[in-house]
This record gives sequence, structure tokens and C-alpha cells, in this order.
Amino acid sequence: MTETNWAGNHTYQAASLHRPASLDQLRELVAGAAQVRVLGSRHSFNDIADSAVLVTLDGLPGEVAVDHAAGTVSCPAALRYGELARALAAEEVALANLASLPHISVGGAIATATHGSGDANGNLATAVAGLELVTASGETLTASRGDPDFDGMVVGLGALGAVTRVTLDVEPAYQVRQRTFQGLDWERLFERLDEVTSAGYSVSMFTRWTGAVEQVWVKSRVASSPEEVRGDLFGAVAATEDQHPILGLDPVNCTRQLGVPGPWSDRLPHFRMGFTPSSGEELQSEYHLPRHHAVAGLRSLRALAGVVRPVLQVSELRTVAADRLWMSPQHGQDTLSVHFTWVPDWAAVQPVLVQIEAALAPFGARPHWGKLFLAGAEAIAPLYERTGDFSRLAGRLDPGGVFANDWLRRHLLGG
Ligand SMILES: Cc1cc2nc3c(=O)[nH]c(=O)nc-3n(C[C@H](O)[C@H](O)[C@H](O)COP(=O)(O)OP(=O)(O)OC[C@H]3O[C@@H](n4cnc5c(N)ncnc54)[C@H](O)[C@@H]3O)c2cc1C
Repeated sequence: MTETNWAGNHTYQAASLHRPASLDQLRELVAGAAQVRVLGSRHSFNDIADSAVLVTLDGLPGEVAVDHAAGTVSCPAALRYGELARALAAEEVALANLASLPHISVGGAIATATHGSGDANGNLATAVAGLELVTASGETLTASRGDPDFDGMVVGLGALGAVTRVTLDVEPAYQVRQRTFQGLDWERLFERLDEVTSAGYSVSMFTRWTGAVEQVWVKSRVASSPEEVRGDLFGAVAATEDQHPILGLDPVNCTRQLGVPGPWSDRLPHFRMGFTPSSGEELQSEYHLPRHHAVAGLRSLRALAGVVRPVLQVSELRTVAADRLWMSPQHGQDTLSVHFTWVPDWAAVQPVLVQIEAALAPFGARPHWGKLFLAGAEAIAPLYERTGDFSRLAGRLDPGGVFANDWLRRHLLGG
């Protein structure tokens, strides 16, 4: 098999890729496998999804069912957010947040704690109210928020079983408008960080680590009161044309800006479904800084600008609210998350990651599970107070280590 991930930088080592057409076929496959992993929509940049045998769940039948009274939707884990959003629109309900692109699968996103932005918005895994998974023995297990170990099961890193269905919190559908601002001075940002990140429901900043943060994207929920249109944001000037996060790229693939109201699902992501997200030719890394270290961490990164810029397309700064999920990078802490879209040249990017990780180590920054990073289990395991509990949970659900893989051993559990 010569299948690769979305970025094309990882060729899966698996000997076979299976596409079961029923839950029973999946259970049989898992129960009979020595090593297996679920492949989502392949948007991770590392080998987190790899195993000897891979299985995709997009052939499983399954409906999208909204429970208006409970405020939830139950859907197949293999569904992509863009497809889910279409089904939710028909029911006039919405999710609280989305990532920068609607192309990723729900199961893959929550397994790696994929996030959007917003001071009060948790990562996408925090919307999970319930899960159904097929464990290594082939049994089906269901768990709901509040159950013992549920907080350990949601950000499962693919290590606990095959998640077949997910129940997510929903709320009444809402509209969002986004405006972008250009040229935010770094020192102004450091002085007014809390005001900048709370200037909208979801705020993203884009920078190439030059003298200023080049763009600030402010996404606000449309309220019944008239919008207060600001000409500047702490000195950054309101844009008069749609922007692409990567300067010089055509914004045609991006969601509408300039304050034009639109459905939540067509404004919270930066990129439109059906179009190439981001640049398409890239690698990505991201580090979640504890919020109280945000300014110090950003100052350390600014000192590396000369090293970073030659291999960088763009960086994005977002905020994510704290949660209780054991393996969430936001476990117990609000974060300012610093993302890097790199040029597609691992040999050039790797030495830069060495310097970035050294610079961020004093702040306890946690890497994004689905992107490229170097730190090993000895550095990462202590950053999560529930690592031991997660390891025991994996041992209980999967005593033979069927869902374990090299990535998990290298970066979290050792051995
Ligand atoms: C262009 C681009 C933009 C991105 N933007 C963002 C962003 O805005 N925010 C952010 O946080 N991340 C972002 N990412 C990263 C991405 O969200 C994560 O890598 C996410 O895991 C991708 O989901 P996937 O379905 O592709 O999972 P995959 O990469 O296929 O798999 C990831 C992990 O999930 C497991 N998994 C997948 N499905 C299941 C299942 N049903 N049951 C059990 N385990 C499962 C796999 O085994 C694997 O361990 C971006 C990536 C790309 C390529």
C-alpha cells in the first residue's frame, strides 16, 4: 500500500487499508487484528495514525440525529465537519466552534484535540457529550460525559479503540461576521493581549514574525444590536479587501470577510469546504503555551525570527479555553497556541524545531498531537498530570496494545 497523508509527507507503513461496510465487519476486523488503527481524513502531519493495518470508517452506515431536547447531535465519527454542518443547518442548530478548515473528520479531530480559537471556546473535543467505540476485543462500548474515565476517553489519540459514533453539544444556529485588521505592533499586543484576544468570539492572528503581527482576524457572533464597526484594532487598520492568511495568496479559498454576516459554519473556519485549505504545499507544527506564559513565550519566539522565517509560510496565534480532558493540551490551562505553516521541506524545518522546542521548554508548552514536533515521551509525559491514568485506561481497554503504535511509544508512553 502506498497511501499518504493529506500533506504527502508521510507514507503509511501499513500493509493494508480496510473499509468495513458494517459495524459487525469492523468488530470482526478489530478482534482479529494484532495491530490496527483507524485512519480519519488523513490531515495529521505525523505518523500518529499509522499501524500494521489501517481501517477507514467512512463506509459504515450511520445517520445524523439531532436531539433538540438534549441539545446534542449524534453522528458517525468518520463524518467531516463540513458535511455535519450541512446536516445541522437543516435542523437550525450549530456547534460552538470549528477548526480553520471544515475538511477534517470529527473522529480524527477529537482524537487529537483539534481546536479553533476564542478565549471562552474549548477545543473541539470539549463538545463531545458521548462516544461509541469498538475496543480491541471487538466489543462495543458507549460512554457519556460524567461517566468514570470519560474525560480520558475523548482525546484518545487513536489508542483506545475505533470510535464509531460521537455525540456533540449543539446550540441554536447563529450567524458570524469576520473582519480583518492589518499591522498590529508586537509591543501593543503584549500590553493589550487580553483585549485583543477578546475583541471577538474567535480571534486569530497571523504573523511572519516581522516587526508587527500582519493580520488579526476577528470573528464575532451577530447580535440583535447594531454592530459597532471599528476602523482600527489597537493601531491595526481595518482591511478593505478579503485576505488570505498567507500574504500574496488569493483569498478566493477563504471564508467571506469585511463584516458580511454568514452562517457560523461558513465564517468560523478560515477556509471554505470544496477548496484547498491553507496553501496545500506545506508542513505544520503547533505549540500550546499556558496562557500565563503567552507574552514570555512569544518574546522567546520573536528572538528566533531570523531562524524561523526562511522556512515559514505563516504563523497563527489562537487562544483556547481550559478543559478537564486528560490528554487535551488545554487540560487544566487556558492556552495561547502558536502555529507554524512551514514550507514542505522537513530537512530544513527539523533543525528549526530543535530551537523552537528549546526556547519553549521553560514554559511547559505542549505540542499539537497531530502536527510535527520532536519531543519524546520523557519530555511530554510529565506535561500531562493524567498520563499515568491514560496509560492505565489504554491498558484496560486494550491489554494487548492492538491500538498502540510507534508514535504513541515515542511521544507519550515510552517503552
Ligand atoms: C490544512 C490543515 C489545517 C489544519 N487546521 C487545524 C486547526 O485549525 N486546528 C487544529 O487544531 N488542527 C488543525 N489541523 C490538524 C488536524 O485537525 C488534526 O491533525 C486532526 O487530527 C485531523 O483529523 P483527521 O480526521 O484527518 O485524523 P487523522 O490524521 O486521519 O488521524 C489522527 C488520529 O486520530 C485517530 N482517529 C481518527 N479517526 C478515529 C476514529 N474514528 N476512532 C479512533 N481514532 C481515530 C487516528 O488513529 C490518529 O491517531 C489542520 C491540518 C491541516 C492539514
